[in-house]
Amino acid sequence: MQSALETLQQSFGYDDFREGQAEIIDAVLAGKRTLGIMPTGGGKSITYQVPALMLPGITVVISPLISLMKNQVDELIANGIDAVTLNSTQDEETYHHAMNHLLNGQAKLLYLAPERLKNEGTYALLNRLDISLVVIDEVHVLSQWGHDFRPSYLEAVHLINNLMSAPRVMALTATATQRVQKDLEERLAIDHTVRTSVVRDNLTIRMETGLKKKDKDDYVQRYVQKHADEAGIIYVPTRKLVTSLTAFLTSRHLSVVGYHAGMTDEERNQAQDDFLFDRANVVVATNAFGMGINKSNVRFVIHYSMPGSIEAYYQEIGRAGRDHLPAEAILLYAAADLQRQRFFIENSDNQTPEYQRLQKNKLQEMANYGATTVCLQQYITRYFGEETLPCGHCTNCLDTRTAIDVTTDAQKVLSHIVRMRNARHNKDAFGKIVTADTLRGHVPEKFKWAHFDQLPTFGLMKGIPRVKIASLIDFLLASGYLQITGEYSGLMVSKTGLQVLQGELQVMRRQSKQMIDDRVTTGS
Ligand code: ADP
Ligand code: ZN
Repeated sequence: MQSALETLQQSFGYDDFREGQAEIIDAVLAGKRTLGIMPTGGGKSITYQVPALMLPGITVVISPLISLMKNQVDELIANGIDAVTLNSTQDEETYHHAMNHLLNGQAKLLYLAPERLKNEGTYALLNRLDISLVVIDEVHVLSQWGHDFRPSYLEAVHLINNLMSAPRVMALTATATQRVQKDLEERLAIDHTVRTSVVRDNLTIRMETGLKKKDKDDYVQRYVQKHADEAGIIYVPTRKLVTSLTAFLTSRHLSVVGYHAGMTDEERNQAQDDFLFDRANVVVATNAFGMGINKSNVRFVIHYSMPGSIEAYYQEIGRAGRDHLPAEAILLYAAADLQRQRFFIENSDNQTPEYQRLQKNKLQEMANYGATTVCLQQYITRYFGEETLPCGHCTNCLDTRTAIDVTTDAQKVLSHIVRMRNARHNKDAFGKIVTADTLRGHVPEKFKWAHFDQLPTFGLMKGIPRVKIASLIDFLLASGYLQITGEYSGLMVSKTGLQVLQGELQVMRRQSKQMIDDRVTTGS
């Protein structure tokens, strides 16, 4: 039999395996149930395509991404490998072609959408095939600890598990925290896990903080103009923003298409193809775009607003630089965007308390990211349970400003918030503006009834401009010392915030331009 390396060279034309590939392939060929965790662009497809050619029967690849399947099948066929797909969007002719190749044993790979498994015909068909290997792609969606849990996919995996007499199983994902990894290992009875570093050396991670909407629009426009011949993705949080930002950039004569789930299939396919085939350089999209988009030369991914979790963020920026050439990921971070993400969570279909708590914790990690002073790449790798050295090229690594100790100011703000809430028996929570105003010794008309001027912390930050205090509150919120609570999204002190009040934690803040111009500190 041909070795794995020979198969790689002869059938795919690559010289050598990349990190993790050979180990995954060896484990699978040895009959182990294998979990592969490799970053986007790491080369996961090869890890099952090579065994598919080496094993006697057929390899079934289950993936929630229909668009990806079609691409993959086309690429395999171009390499002279017989691969087919069964999905709900194909025409009769393609379907019959697929069935023929499956039944006469010609096809080496079958790509299958999970919902096809619930179709009795498909199920019966699978029972007749000689299946050597089952691949479960994007397997993180099987874990409720993941950022994109899909119970329907789980059902499909159960079905396929019932089907076969102990077939080889391989599960693949780009993003899994330690917790998700453990969960998947248990669920799928994994024997061997291969996890390569999540670090993408060619990706420079950047962040711009404190931009208002108008500033963000200008930033994006200037960036796209400066990188006019490069492909990029701009993620925005809402469909409305897809439309308005696309219009704005187009009016500036930039080559842009919009993409969101509210468009018709036809419009979406058109936009996707325009981007894939370089008819448009940039796509402005919601997070509906990108799963399974195999465009290797994406040079930048800009997030107009923070995503809901580090996992989602890392997956989305992973779409840049899959060709291993330099690429940039830029987050336009504004603490105010936190509110919108909270709204998404609170209004999601899943209202179970565990889900709500989990998603809010994930969001808080994302918010903390915006306020961190450590290397951005390090922050992300730590989140996934990996220790790395500072990258040396992210925004924070290049930031020469020093962090200053703002513990005393933080304590003033936190203790005032505790007292404001105490005064209302912790039933109410108040917003940033009234908090800042009363710290400055001013009671807004609307809040006269609450008698905040009786509090010992009233006027504790007299003389400091409201915007400075508000910015400190944003920072405390983003750093997790404060959290949002109640019907009106008021402020409350978090567990870590209490530690600050008790003098157990020091609060460090990187000096921003305003802080240097006009110190926010009151002599501390
Ligand atoms: P993933 O699914 O992990 O995001 P892909 O399987 O799409 O990544 O692979 C990313 C790119 O790397 C593809 O263009 C693929 O052809 C290429 N690639 C994969 N393995 C190798 C290898 N051993 N040598 C060179 N290029 C590779
Ligand atoms: Zn860094």
